[in-house]
Amino acid sequence: MRRTASALLCLALLLALAGCAPQAETSTVFAMDTVMTLTAYGDRACVDDAVSLIQELEARLSVTAADSDIARVNGSGGGDAAPETAALLKRALELCKLTGGALDVTVYPLVRAWGFTTGAYRVPEDAEIAELLTYVDHTAVKLDGQTVSLPAGAMLDLGAVAKGWTGDKIAALWREAGVKSGLINLGGNVQTVGGKPDGSDWVVGIRDPFSEGLLGAVSARDLAVITSGGYQRYFEQDGVRYCHIIDPKTGRPADSGLASVTVVGEEGVLCDGLSTALYVLGPEEAVRLWRENTGFDLVLVTDGGEVILTEGIEGRFTPMGAYTDKEIKVMRRG
Ligand code: AMP
Ligand code: MG
Repeated sequence: MRRTASALLCLALLLALAGCAPQAETSTVFAMDTVMTLTAYGDRACVDDAVSLIQELEARLSVTAADSDIARVNGSGGGDAAPETAALLKRALELCKLTGGALDVTVYPLVRAWGFTTGAYRVPEDAEIAELLTYVDHTAVKLDGQTVSLPAGAMLDLGAVAKGWTGDKIAALWREAGVKSGLINLGGNVQTVGGKPDGSDWVVGIRDPFSEGLLGAVSARDLAVITSGGYQRYFEQDGVRYCHIIDPKTGRPADSGLASVTVVGEEGVLCDGLSTALYVLGPEEAVRLWRENTGFDLVLVTDGGEVILTEGIEGRFTPMGAYTDKEIKVMRRG
């Protein structure tokens, strides 16, 4: 009798515990040209709100949708943008400056000429590249409150920062709503809210740029883990691979000796802007920029397959697969 009572008590306890354990609520959406998966523990409405937010931001920021804020501004040399669009443009312009123009929100005429937004890939003639480069200059973009003005021929593209920004907005929304555990995966741009429901850190995989597998994983809590790489979008012509990240100095796909750049930090938009810019700048400049700034750490993979970490991430990075036996270089500030 006593045994039955204690068994019942155990069962009741288990049921109570199961009731307490927050349930994973997830949604998968296709937006901003990628598959996005959102997981929040214990709050369905938060996931639904995040999907609406993604759709709203995409409608405003898309460079191809004819009625987006960005397309409107591009079509008329400026105009008023929604507060959210203006706020992102402001932060993006700061990042263009921080990276010495390796990130440049006005590189769009070249991105388009190479076919990266249309899918009509082509290698433009030298003269065409030279002509389009005359429109590339982030310092010529004027932003006064919500009013944008662009010089004739200039066009904006916030594609290099939009996902990081969107992740920041979702994370803020979830934290405000009391979500303790969430994972925002915007097509490889990952942002974590808190840790896992069991209290441990999230483990975010980093793609091996040379295979379908992973090169390692980063443990993360309330951090963004954002990767740019030549393998993500590219086309090949006459045996040459052309990637979607354009060097604003040359007007050609970046070829700086890096196969991928992962930036880890609290601010997603910073990590997103930097991942694109550092891919353009190459390993030495990337490490220099890291030494001169705070708020982020790096996992760089060179074209030769060398892995370079910055010291802040050393204890949180675990190499995987072929990378377990490789020597990993750790850069220090001093
Ligand atoms: P990401 O995937 O974050 O590295 O961003 C790449 C996207 O940003 C490209 O698909 C282009 O739309 C745009 N882009 C390419 N090169 C640059 C650049 N140097 N600066 C700013 N945006 C760029
Ligand atoms: Mg980026």
